Amino acid sequence: ESRVAAERLGEVLALVRQTVDEHVHELGGLDSIAGDGDHGIGMQRGSHAAGDAACVAIAAGAGAGTMLERAGDAWSDRAGGTSGALWGVALRSLGAAIGDEQAPHAASVAAGVAAAGEGIRAYGKAKVGDKTMVDALVPFSATLTREVNGGASLAEAWAVAADAAVAAAAATADLLPRMGRARPHAEKSLGTPDPGAHSFALIVRAVADVLTE
Ligand code: ADP
Ligand code: MG
Ligand code: MG
Repeated sequence: ESRVAAERLGEVLALVRQTVDEHVHELGGLDSIAGDGDHGIGMQRGSHAAGDAACVAIAAGAGAGTMLERAGDAWSDRAGGTSGALWGVALRSLGAAIGDEQAPHAASVAAGVAAAGEGIRAYGKAKVGDKTMVDALVPFSATLTREVNGGASLAEAWAVAADAAVAAAAATADLLPRMGRARPHAEKSLGTPDPGAHSFALIVRAVADVLTE
């Protein structure tokens, strides 16, 4: 079942890549306001490398956890930049939590997302309110866990959590960046959302749509 799950997750990663492709200029534009403008291209390099690595792992018969860990390695190796390292950490943590022994279910995915969030916070040291992807990730993960614990299916829980991430990413427009490259130009970023929070929300929103199919 883990191999079937790996194939399904491979489709999710293909959708992540497609979503990034559709928004690459928007993400670059957001990052050029106070950052260095490479968030679109970095996310594109990372998500394409992750998708390719997932295909190779699936063809080799890997289970879901191993497939995600390989995808995470490829994302951080090829993306460059802070967000690439953090997405690599996230996919590796998710893969390690899900493992290869059984098909992922709502509780293991929620636990894996929580582990990914902890991995990102341990690596990047950003806190909620620092105007980073953490501002979208924390409410996403908390909502996912709350909904799953309340008995929602993965698709239902993920959809509610994605709405929370979209709202939280939009709300970063009111914050001043306290981490990363945007910090020296903090005041320029007032009024625009954080690029990494925005891309995170776009991605989890798109994944919600495929989970409900
Ligand atoms: P770089 O800043 O290296 O050019 P990107 O432009 O791809 O990398 O990504 C920028 C995004 O990375 C920011 O918008 C923010 O969301 C996220 N980010 C930066 N530093 C951190 C951090 N320490 N912890 C979490 N996220 C961070
Ligand atoms: Mg950048
Ligand atoms: Mg950069």
